Amino acid sequence: MSQPVVTIIVAALKPLYGIGYKGSLPWRLRKEMAYFRRVTTRTVDPSLRNAVIMGRKTWESIPSKFRPLPNRLNVILSRSFENKIIDDDVLHAKSVQDSLRLIKDKNIERVYVIGGAEIYNEFIKSGLVDNVLLTEIENTEEEQLEMDTFLKFDADQWIKSSKSDLIEFTGEEAIDDDIQENKFSYNYTLWSKQ
Ligand code: NDP
Repeated sequence: MSQPVVTIIVAALKPLYGIGYKGSLPWRLRKEMAYFRRVTTRTVDPSLRNAVIMGRKTWESIPSKFRPLPNRLNVILSRSFENKIIDDDVLHAKSVQDSLRLIKDKNIERVYVIGGAEIYNEFIKSGLVDNVLLTEIENTEEEQLEMDTFLKFDADQWIKSSKSDLIEFTGEEAIDDDIQENKFSYNYTLWSKQ
C-alpha cells in the first residue's frame, strides 16, 4: 500500500497562530471538537481506519477516560520510547520517521497529525505534510487571551483550497462560515503544499 496522505489538523488563534496555554487548549469549542472527531475518524473505505499522531504532552493532556481516541490508531511520539506496539489502538514511536514506518501495513487510510506545537513544527519542517486543516479562530472580545504555545505556519508556503475542496476532503456535508462559540468566531480551512 502507498504512503497515506499526511494532514495536520489544528485550531489556532490569529494572527499569531496561538494553540495552547499551560499544557491545555486556551478555549473550549464544543462544535470544533466535534468537527475534529468526525474528520479524523471518517474513512471512505470502511475496512480502514485513520491514524492520529501526537506528542507525549498532548497525549497526557487528554483526560485518561477519553484516551486512546476511539476508532483511530493512536501514535504517541516520545524520544524516550522504544518503537513499540502497545495494543491494537496504541503505538509508541521515537521519531517522526519511525511513526510513519510503524503504521505501514496497519490498514490506515489517512494520517492526521494532531499536535502539539513541537510535533506540528517538526512534521512541517520534515516536508512530509501534504495538507493542513486549519481552524482559524478570532477573538471577538477586546481582552487578550494568554497563550504560550504557537504554530509555525507560514501561509506563503501553502495554497488555500476552496470551500468545495474542503468539503470534499473532509467528507463533511456542509461547512458554515464564521461559526460563533463562546467569545470566538472561527472558520475551517484547508491548505495544500505549494
Ligand atoms: P507536544 O504534544 O508536541 O509533545 C512534545 C513531546 O513530544 C516532547 O516533549 C517529546 O516527548 C515528544 N517529541 C517531540 N518531538 C519528537 C520527535 N521528533 N521524536 C520523538 N518524540 C518527540 O507538546 P507541546 O508542548 O509542543 O504542545 C502541547 C500544547 O499544544 C498544549 O498546550 C496543547 O493543549 C496544545 N495543543 C493544541 C492543539 C490545537 O489544535 N490548538 C492541538 C494539540 C495540542 P518526550 O519529552 O517524552 O521525549
